[in-house]
Amino acid sequence: MRKRIGVIGGGAAGIMAAITAARAGAEVTLYERNERVGKKLLSTGNGKCNFSNTDMSPCFYFSRDMDRALSVLERFDNKAALRFFHEAGMLTKEKRGGLYPAAEQASVVLDVLRLQLQKEQVELLTGEKVKEVRADGKGIEVISEKGSRFFQGVIIACGGRAAPQTGSDGNGYDMAKALGHSLVPVVPALVQLKGGESWFSSVSGVRAETALKLMVEGRQEAEERGELQFTDYGLSGIVVFQMSRIAAYALRDKKKVDVCIDFLPDCPQEAYEEWSRKRLERMDEKENVEAFFTGMLHKKLMSLLIRLAGLKPGENCKKADKEKLRRVFALCRELKVSITDSHSFTHAQVCAGGLPLSQVTENLESLKQPGVYFAGEILDVDGKCGGYNLQWAWASGYVAGKSAAESNT
Ligand SMILES: Cc1cc2nc3c(=O)[nH]c(=O)nc-3n(C[C@H](O)[C@H](O)[C@H](O)COP(=O)(O)OP(=O)(O)OC[C@H]3O[C@@H](n4cnc5c(N)ncnc54)[C@H](O)[C@@H]3O)c2cc1C
Repeated sequence: MRKRIGVIGGGAAGIMAAITAARAGAEVTLYERNERVGKKLLSTGNGKCNFSNTDMSPCFYFSRDMDRALSVLERFDNKAALRFFHEAGMLTKEKRGGLYPAAEQASVVLDVLRLQLQKEQVELLTGEKVKEVRADGKGIEVISEKGSRFFQGVIIACGGRAAPQTGSDGNGYDMAKALGHSLVPVVPALVQLKGGESWFSSVSGVRAETALKLMVEGRQEAEERGELQFTDYGLSGIVVFQMSRIAAYALRDKKKVDVCIDFLPDCPQEAYEEWSRKRLERMDEKENVEAFFTGMLHKKLMSLLIRLAGLKPGENCKKADKEKLRRVFALCRELKVSITDSHSFTHAQVCAGGLPLSQVTENLESLKQPGVYFAGEILDVDGKCGGYNLQWAWASGYVAGKSAAESNT
């Protein structure tokens, strides 16, 4: 008799779990509340799906139980992901370490996965939302909007709360809690940050290559480099996303969060000081402050920094307060922005927090309810931008699928 496995959630993790369990000999049913599986996958990597990365250093992941997270990632690493997709017929390409389908279309990844589901004869129950998972003497009961079925193993892969418009609205957490689990607080991650200053709309749309420092209660907690985008509410861009989880947790704890922006990250400080001293010495008699600072940064940014230094637009340089002129030079190196909030789950690419790995075995089986497994973003593991979250989904889906199919329970 083949083992009957139910998988709840047809995202990256659930699809991988279903394919793996079926390949290990189980009879698999995959529940997906949407009419089609893999809705979120289609929007990944700006529609190109950055499905993994060549650099799998632990520093790209966060979890309260890093050892357990890394051991799962080792059992299905980036090479295994590449092998999986290559064997399924997908050509891939690498861009600065990021791994993508060669066609640069997320839909290609989903097509390949759907074909594997079909080949492995996974039963798809789409448009069917699971309401409850109940342990019973006869097995594990999955109760959906359309009926109830019993399985010998159930894998919960409902995602987190990020991008709820794709189906992952946090209801998986409720299922886990009903089975006796508790959660690491869940916050939006890989998300924009809202700023407290009133001037954001004046530079909205401006992009600049920057180095950012995230300060929590005055202490540096993260440093990133990359293209910053100003919006009318605050800061965006991958450089901001990478530090957003730390900001979100600090804000949740009511701590003071600031971002310090260096607009000249390639310029050594000593050379910059020397250059700005000489610029001040060679100042033109008739020049106004805007003309004096022309050529350094984006025009809108420079006007902002001139205002923030206390200079008046159109003010003559020679008559201007020298300290204020020096302040403009200093603001190019460090503009401090107070962070009031992170953007919502709707805008977040992932969630930080979730089901602690200390409440599951190394095979991702629940310690509260044997026979129930978890995979994907519902677990307390999140990664930086660069394919790390999908790699987690593949790895945890693989481990949960294989273990559920092969265990003796
Ligand atoms: C815009 C965007 C871009 C991204 N880009 C990248 C990228 O390029 N690279 C990368 O690594 N990561 C990226 N991510 C993150 C990555 O997509 C997720 O971490 C990953 O998809 C999580 O997979 P999952 O299967 O755990 O959850 P999900 O993909 O959220 O899937 C969960 C599924 O479960 C279903 N479901 C939920 N509850 C029920 C229920 N009760 N019954 C039935 N079905 C249910 C949902 O409808 C959903 O289909 C991106 C995310 C977003 C939002």
